[in-house]
Amino acid sequence: MRHIIIGASAAGISAAKTIRQWEPADEVTVISVDERVHSRCMLHKFLSHERTAEGINFVPEDFFEKNGIRWVKGERVNRVDTGAKQVHLECGAFLPYDRLLIATGAHFVIPPLPNFREAKNVFGLRDLSDAEKIDAAAAEGKRCVIVGSGLVGLDAANALCERGVACSVVEMADRISPLQLDTTAAAAYQTLFEKAGCTFYLAEKASGSEMDGEGNITSISLASGVTLPCDFVVVAAGVRPSVEFLEGSGIEVERGVKVDEYLHTSVPDVWAAGDVAGITGIWPNAMQQGETAAKNMCGASVPYEDRYGMKNTMNFYGLTTLSLGINTPAEGDEVLLRESKSGYQRFILHDGVVTHVLIQGDISNTGFWQELVKRKIPVGDLGKSVFDLSYADFYRYDKAHASFEW
Ligand SMILES: Cc1cc2nc3c(=O)[nH]c(=O)nc-3n(C[C@H](O)[C@H](O)[C@H](O)COP(=O)(O)OP(=O)(O)OC[C@H]3O[C@@H](n4cnc5c(N)ncnc54)[C@H](O)[C@@H]3O)c2cc1C
Repeated sequence: MRHIIIGASAAGISAAKTIRQWEPADEVTVISVDERVHSRCMLHKFLSHERTAEGINFVPEDFFEKNGIRWVKGERVNRVDTGAKQVHLECGAFLPYDRLLIATGAHFVIPPLPNFREAKNVFGLRDLSDAEKIDAAAAEGKRCVIVGSGLVGLDAANALCERGVACSVVEMADRISPLQLDTTAAAAYQTLFEKAGCTFYLAEKASGSEMDGEGNITSISLASGVTLPCDFVVVAAGVRPSVEFLEGSGIEVERGVKVDEYLHTSVPDVWAAGDVAGITGIWPNAMQQGETAAKNMCGASVPYEDRYGMKNTMNFYGLTTLSLGINTPAEGDEVLLRESKSGYQRFILHDGVVTHVLIQGDISNTGFWQELVKRKIPVGDLGKSVFDLSYADFYRYDKAHASFEW
């Protein structure tokens, strides 16, 4: 059996490893634009010079060789012919497959702001080659505008501040990292970033720019009229699943590649896993999906069960936050807040079920919250404040409700 995996990151690598374990005699080929395997989550460490490119590789150097996996690196797939079962590369070559996994992740989006798409000094941050470009820009320039303050924008700001670059961060929402944080938790980070050399422009929009004769943006103007002089720009304003090469393949695409519970696409013998499937956009989910899809490519029928949900942890300047679920309350939801010595906590409850958890500070022993949110376990009948719950409460709950598996 010939397995082809497009993508050599969280989903693709975990799939390749799984197929090799399950089917030692099968042919496994991984194709990627990436020339080096690396963790996107660690790009900020590369950018801050805390780690080298080798230092953010998440597999052993001899991974492909040792596992008998062929890696076609630095090549882009530009077409999939699902009728002939062939994958076509930009260089003109094509490779036949029996089973195909699409694990092409996502790419950043540059908004259609004046000069942004043409300028030479506007960068996104998705892979090592992006980080290398920003690294070179930071060696020359000392002022950066970052558009977007989600996790990627904050990663960039954190790394660039370490390098002594003054960062101006522009955010449309009234607080930083609005999908993960509420006002209180965001303010704590904002103070830390400001101390490190960041300036935040909240509830603001980049609306224009000035470009010099060499094609470099020299300043960004905001809707409020403020002008921010800069040497380069980092855009962290969202990503889109990398599906363009699937046009004409017959593989159905919605937000991402459409998959069923087995991560199978609409076309026989083709699966999709990771950010390209648009289910969630976090590393552990991509790995888990890669593993599940791989088992199914080997003939199993394993449904994908989301183990991690909408989970994010962040740690900047020693302050850690765990965020689970959706942080905006619906009408009638209960919002509970507590600030204590160990940190700040916020819970949203819908009909006695916790739908969002935000814990800033000490996040040890908080693993059980993930299960509570994911499984929609009611906490109202435990006779205890939500702030005092621990794993032990659910162990008892489990015993009392024999049908429930913890
Ligand atoms: C800066 C940054 C920080 C992050 N921090 C965190 C974090 O702290 N925690 C967390 O859980 N998640 C984090 N994420 C998200 C996480 O990195 C992604 O969820 C994860 O990388 C998704 O893995 P993937 O395998 O689906 O795709 P990707 O990692 O996007 O990899 C896609 C692969 O496909 C290849 N590819 C794409 N198109 C083609 C093509 N046409 N032909 C051939 N190859 C192709 C690429 O070269 C690459 O190898 C972060 C992301 C970024 C960018």
